[in-house]
Amino acid sequence: MARSECTVCGEVFKSLWGFDAHRIAKYNLPDKERCLSVRQMKKKGFIRKDNIWQRGVNPLFKQAQ
Ligand SMILES: [Zn+2]
Repeated sequence: MARSECTVCGEVFKSLWGFDAHRIAKYNLPDKERCLSVRQMKKKGFIRKDNIWQRGVNPLFKQAQ
C-alpha cells in the first residue's frame, strides 16, 4: 500500500487521492498552495485511522476501497 506523506504538514495519507485533496491552491498559483487544517479535512469527510488519513464513511465515496 503506497502512502503519501506531506512534507509540509507532516500528515500521512493512505493514497495519492488524500494527498491531492488536502492541498489547496490559492488563486491557482502553485507557490500559493497550502494544506487543509485538520478541522477542514474532517469537514471534508477525511478520517484518520492509525495516524493515516483516508476517505471517511461517506455515501459519496461508497464505491471506493
Ligand atoms: Zn500537507
